Amino acid sequence: MIDLTIKQALAKLKDRSISAVELTQAYLARIEKFGKQLNCYITTTPERALSDAAKSDERYANGNQLKLDGMPIAMKDLFATRGIRTTAASRMLENFVPQYESTVSQNFINAGTVLLGKSNLDEFAMGTFSKTSFFGAPVNPWHFEQRLTAGGSSGGSTSAVASGLAIGATGTDTGGSIRFPCAITGLVGMKPTYGLSSRWGCIAFASSLDTPGPIARTVEDTALLLSVMAGHDVKDSTSSPNAKFDTDGNLQPILGDGKKLRVGVIKEFNSVKISEDMKNLFEKRIADLKSMGAEIIEVSIPNILNALAAYYIIAPAEASSNLARYDGMRYGLRVEGADLNDTYKKTRAAGFGEEVKRRLLIGTAVLSSESYDVYFMQAARVRRMIADSFNKAFEQCDLIVCPSSSGPALPLDSDLTPLEYYALDLFTVAMNLAGVPAVSVPCGLTQTGLPLGMQVVGPRFADMQVLQLAKHIEDASAFDNRPTKIMGN
Ligand code: GLN
Repeated sequence: MIDLTIKQALAKLKDRSISAVELTQAYLARIEKFGKQLNCYITTTPERALSDAAKSDERYANGNQLKLDGMPIAMKDLFATRGIRTTAASRMLENFVPQYESTVSQNFINAGTVLLGKSNLDEFAMGTFSKTSFFGAPVNPWHFEQRLTAGGSSGGSTSAVASGLAIGATGTDTGGSIRFPCAITGLVGMKPTYGLSSRWGCIAFASSLDTPGPIARTVEDTALLLSVMAGHDVKDSTSSPNAKFDTDGNLQPILGDGKKLRVGVIKEFNSVKISEDMKNLFEKRIADLKSMGAEIIEVSIPNILNALAAYYIIAPAEASSNLARYDGMRYGLRVEGADLNDTYKKTRAAGFGEEVKRRLLIGTAVLSSESYDVYFMQAARVRRMIADSFNKAFEQCDLIVCPSSSGPALPLDSDLTPLEYYALDLFTVAMNLAGVPAVSVPCGLTQTGLPLGMQVVGPRFADMQVLQLAKHIEDASAFDNRPTKIMGN
């Protein structure tokens, strides 16, 4: 049952050949068996899951089932869930139980899904391997014995979906946190257009970049999840009034039958060193697209190699402001000090991990009056130029493709410096700076059998076209990511 896609599971629930309770029990049993070793959940909610599933079965029996009725999902532990601990993988919020529900998680409730639990992540979504989690890192189910990273920051979600501990999951992508972990776990993950999915109730990291998005095993499942997540939300001032994305789970071909599609490849990325496997697979998939009738065009995003520098100024700057609220006064951890200032200091010193502190210091520094013009304003200009270059490029081509990462998953105990970690985001951050939609889709396996992914990027609000092209790539690579094959029964 674990190997069913969302689309297949929905069909089986509809014809009543399985029940939502049976499906949920299969996932709960698997969580029981593998959950600890994979460390993909911070909190599991088996009772809630079974009660959700029972209600779902009633709706199927009455014929009034909802869009994703009975689908057992994992919610990244950054989305506030009413009555369920929400930690952001930080000691600061270790015991925080929200009294409200984020818009995204509410949308999933409204669609009839079953909540399996809250998935692990990097602390406040800052990181690339999910190693900055206060609860320890999740593990990649691929080559499990090698203890590879499942990526970050949505690494708990990717570990869970790839191993069959959830049928789909939510993530958030501020600089690549959905796409990178999906690429190295053989999954599909999408950062939608900024403003398509609501940030309300999602714990903030860098508000102008944070983008909630879906994680699943197939492109069509990803589209189904997105259709539930997307929508205008008056509670989020950056939510777009045009936010609309709907699908019945059948994506129409965008290639073939003489259809014309211009697909761009980014010239500046040619000079970036990537692994042989990534290079070969990317070229193979480009050749496939060509043979399906796509016209391949080289486009230029002149400042794209400066995206990393701009991102690592803007994201920490926004984080330093967003995380100022954790002061021990209102909620979360409080460590009593001699006076008010001492309480602030002791609380923040004890509550935040090393990487979060590094970001807060960088952010505070680049926003200080001496540095504001040289760092923050300069980064904001680079960001504007990158967004403009994407707009220009999309006058020459319809969609863009590029690698999702330079290579496959690395061991969790890799000894990288902070800058080496930051450099891993090279292929993903520019799309956040520009606010454009980007999906990572599996493009094949390395010589040693590890998954790699490539991205499809589109103009703002071309989320559907991005997924349509990703579907062709998925079909061409004929990738097998059945959880029982990867992690066993
Ligand atoms: N790896 C990036 C960072 O550490 C991206 C994180 C994210 O997208 N949340 O900031």
